[in-house]
Amino acid sequence: MMKITRLTTYHAAPRWLFLKVETDEGITGWGEPVVEGRARTVEAAVHELGEYVVGKDPSRINDLWQTLYRGGFYRGGPVLMSAIAGIDQALWDIKGKALGVPVYELLGGRVRDRMKTYRWVGGDRPADLVDQIRSYRGLGFDTFKFNGTEELKLLDSPRAVDQAVAKVAAVREAFGDSVDFGVDFHGRVGAPMAKLLLRELEPFKPLFVEEPVLPEQAEYYPRLAASTSIPLAAGERMYSRFEFKRVLEAGGLAILQPDLSHAGGITECLKIAAMAEAYDVALAPHCPLGPVALAACLQLDFVAHNAVLQEQSIGIHYNQGADLLDYVLNKDDFRCDNGDIRALPRPGLGVEVDEERLRHAHANPPDWRNPVWRHADSSIAEW
Ligand SMILES: [Mg+2]
Repeated sequence: MMKITRLTTYHAAPRWLFLKVETDEGITGWGEPVVEGRARTVEAAVHELGEYVVGKDPSRINDLWQTLYRGGFYRGGPVLMSAIAGIDQALWDIKGKALGVPVYELLGGRVRDRMKTYRWVGGDRPADLVDQIRSYRGLGFDTFKFNGTEELKLLDSPRAVDQAVAKVAAVREAFGDSVDFGVDFHGRVGAPMAKLLLRELEPFKPLFVEEPVLPEQAEYYPRLAASTSIPLAAGERMYSRFEFKRVLEAGGLAILQPDLSHAGGITECLKIAAMAEAYDVALAPHCPLGPVALAACLQLDFVAHNAVLQEQSIGIHYNQGADLLDYVLNKDDFRCDNGDIRALPRPGLGVEVDEERLRHAHANPPDWRNPVWRHADSSIAEW
């Protein structure tokens, strides 16, 4: 029986945490357990949970997952579920490598040959959308996402709404129906303004609006959905089946966006995907993260019939100091043709980590934090 021997974590720019899980048979698995801006907190959780897996058989992923989740009286939430996610990804990587097949083969095999991805444009404060989309159009991308607003007060002026709408209108005017785009409200918009903004955006036919309100206000999802024909998306700040079941039952969301590095990894997100399929809800895994997280997402996308779009972080505004494939040896496997990625061909997660480069990065890692925004009156604003 193979045994897990050691867990090692590496911090790296721009804001990533990598986990290496070693075994006594020399097979190594990689995971990416992180909460953006709280990498060190998740790292502590990974090593605390490591006590439950060192010495154990890595092939028993289901049992280890249940141990990590149910073995603690207190469970759930971003920190613990992200720590479990990274360990879970590494266990799938080990299993695939041990058996010599990509993870999607272990999950029943592919339902598609290519997975559509989209590109972020415009940064934290949406700007230069038309120029950036034009340059990425040249690379073959036809689907994009950008932030819908900057700070928005619970009750804000029609001016602020008009400014937000004008940016979306400019994109539609510049490109007509040759591009699709999602608009991320990023939890910056409160329920009263969300209703107004959704109505004003409707003529420009966004593919979806993401986090129209914060997940804490999820009871508004069905109410907002009843007021608009724009598909609503959310899920990056939900961490398990037990949270997703509530939004699926309540209705309103057209797209679930679980994060494979936040919601318990491949094991949990596979179940979330199946639950969504039963409700005719699409899947678009959240992934503004690094290459191991993306590889985990792709393993799920290739087996989930309802997976429609994959986020990826190439050129994203967060990627200061490193970009998506900087720590990857098999870069070509991740090549985007007209925005599509093919099924990763290698065993396990399909990513060969450049550990040498990672070790280098780890020597001097940045401690990324998300910006803290304030309204004009100095009160805290949602970022
Ligand atoms: Mg988002």
